[in-house]
Amino acid sequence: MSFIKIDKQKMRQNNKSIVIEELLKNKVISRAKLCKETNLNKATMTELIKELIDQNLVIETGMGFSNTQGGRKPVLLELNKNRGIIIAIEIDFNKILFSIHLLNGEIVLFESKKQMVDKDTIIQEILKIIEVVKTQTEFRDHEIIGMCIAVHGIVKNNKLEFSPKYNLDQVDIVAELKKTYSFPILIENEANAAAIAESTFKNETENLVNLNINSGIGAGIFMNNKLLKGSNGFAGEIGHSIYQPDGLKCICGNQGCVELYASTKALEDKILTVQNKTELDYSTIHDEFKNNSKVNEIITEGARILSIVANNIIVLLSPDLLILNGTLLRSIPEMLDMVKANIKYQYLNNTTIISSGLGERSVLYGCCAIVIKKFLNIKKAHLYISEKI
Ligand SMILES: [Zn+2]
Repeated sequence: MSFIKIDKQKMRQNNKSIVIEELLKNKVISRAKLCKETNLNKATMTELIKELIDQNLVIETGMGFSNTQGGRKPVLLELNKNRGIIIAIEIDFNKILFSIHLLNGEIVLFESKKQMVDKDTIIQEILKIIEVVKTQTEFRDHEIIGMCIAVHGIVKNNKLEFSPKYNLDQVDIVAELKKTYSFPILIENEANAAAIAESTFKNETENLVNLNINSGIGAGIFMNNKLLKGSNGFAGEIGHSIYQPDGLKCICGNQGCVELYASTKALEDKILTVQNKTELDYSTIHDEFKNNSKVNEIITEGARILSIVANNIIVLLSPDLLILNGTLLRSIPEMLDMVKANIKYQYLNNTTIISSGLGERSVLYGCCAIVIKKFLNIKKAHLYISEKI
């Protein structure tokens, strides 16, 4: 008897997940159309929708059109985007970005600040963000349904295990925050979060690789609708593949890692040396690329090295999409063309190479998607970007 009960519960949960996925996909939909799209019968659907309305996850929203034979106009349903809010945080070694999202993914607040963090200050910085959300925003009365923190390092079992760029791996961030807050708190690698963002918000494909080119180079690998992490969470650390044997010494222990030659930071440092400056002016970098032959040379060489990384990813994984995301790539669109032109692999036409449409917020969108999927217990989420902010 108990097996039957468990099976029934499992089936009910499964059906609920299917209905929620369909609701997100359609934004607004009638019960009849939901039945048609999910192959669930009317009685099951009525029961499931009642439960979702009781849980304040679904709301009835106006009337649809009646069919050609006339008849009653159907009541339309949608996911209650105001059911709660999600906090997304990205912590790089020299900046913190954070955003608030509604349950449909819509972004309602975004902030970015330059800030060095270390093991002694990180918890205070995150607590400050949560307190701002809870006290000073128009969303202070909303329930926080979860928070996801993206970090530049290896994450395993919801814990940052290794972060060579900063010493945050010396503090159990999630455990510390859980002493104060009871909502779900998750932690994820930034390149993985970005890959989830691309598959959830922008691209339908289930096989993509997102290459984040920032202070380092990291790949988020999303294959068959799942993140590929490897046995220890190290999968995708392609910035530490060797470009120059016996080359520059890397913090990972190897020599000649490719991110020392082609990450945004590596290229920025080279450009700053040429310019004899300490901070790169992104408002003029495209002009510099066009008119300053030395800057042009650095960017061209950077693109050549990135094309080697891209080529290696494509021959290894054959993704439908390879998405490149980085500040220099966004400011100098010609870099993407150079990367593509440098790849001579004849089967390249199986993979489309594009620049990210999510820009600097991609990691935050990924954090948001991770929380929403967990909260709604769904595998696939069609989420939406609001252009308002
Ligand atoms: Zn390395």
